[in-house]
Amino acid sequence: NARASGIGDWAVFQPEMGRVADHRQWVESELHVAFERGDFDLHYQPQLDLPTGRVVGYEALIRWHHPERGTIPPGEFISVAEETGMIAPIGEWVLRKACTDARLLPEDCFVAVNISPVQFMTRDFVGIVERIIKETGIAPKRLELELTESAMMQDRDRAAQILKQLTAMGISVAVDDFGTGYSNLAYLIDFSFHKLKIDRSFVSRMETDSNSGAVVSTIVGLSRALGVRTIAEGVETENQATLLRAAGCQVVQGYFFGRPAPLVLGDAGLVVPADRTASVH
Ligand code: C2E
Ligand code: MG
Ligand code: MG
Ligand code: MG
Repeated sequence: NARASGIGDWAVFQPEMGRVADHRQWVESELHVAFERGDFDLHYQPQLDLPTGRVVGYEALIRWHHPERGTIPPGEFISVAEETGMIAPIGEWVLRKACTDARLLPEDCFVAVNISPVQFMTRDFVGIVERIIKETGIAPKRLELELTESAMMQDRDRAAQILKQLTAMGISVAVDDFGTGYSNLAYLIDFSFHKLKIDRSFVSRMETDSNSGAVVSTIVGLSRALGVRTIAEGVETENQATLLRAAGCQVVQGYFFGRPAPLVLGDAGLVVPADRTASVH
């Protein structure tokens, strides 16, 4: 019987809905084991200053290497981890690992760490961040937290308070996937942050769709008015980089400049993820 024989058969025998539910359940049950076993790893993707082409930071992106299933992308397990509470230990591990790895990165580069809304709202989030900074000895200005709008909107007063505490510590904050969440811009006034990160969907369409280009320009203008920086994610072509530069975007990240990759030690010392340092005109 296909069900009893294990997950190896589910894809063939279960109807669509059942498959999704089974996969979700499989992820849930495997997450604990995977975490204990140390199956998680961080990949890093460079972020470049557009005018100079210099790498200014690296975004840490979690990877789950399953012994049988291979690499499972975060899109398939972060939401499950959020629902089951596993995001707390996993998120803490990510922060500690990224802050530890920062010592291997060039000293003038920061690490950007994605923080789940659930993790952001846990009771002692600020305390955990504080402890990790102390333990790892990372300079707070070398840590950037990437938060989505949804993380900030759940409880605006509390979110504003937490952001104030984090930024007071010298940590940098970026609003991730900007433009896809709540259109309520009023919250921006209350929140302390340093960057708006333009969502990939606008970047990928800006060449062909003038509305997307208009959104990009508007976000850059909004950033300027608020005195924060703009970073674009998902830059895949030189043309996109050129358009972003013309729009006044300061920082870029995407496959065109470098894919997420593990930190590896090579003959010549540390080899950081591939980067394209040539400037874009
Ligand atoms: P995100 O924070 O918006 O990260 C950007 C995603 O776009 C990453 O996918 C990255 O690999 C991918 N990407 C980068 N450049 C390009 C490009 O040029 N083209 C395309 N098509 N994609 C590009 P990834 O690594 O699969 O992560 C997906 C999402 O999972 C992230 O979106 C983030 O929300 C979440 N995530 C990843 N790592 C963590 C983590 O450690 N903790 C938490 N809470 N969430 C994480
Ligand atoms: Mg991110
Ligand atoms: Mg993003
Ligand atoms: Mg995104």
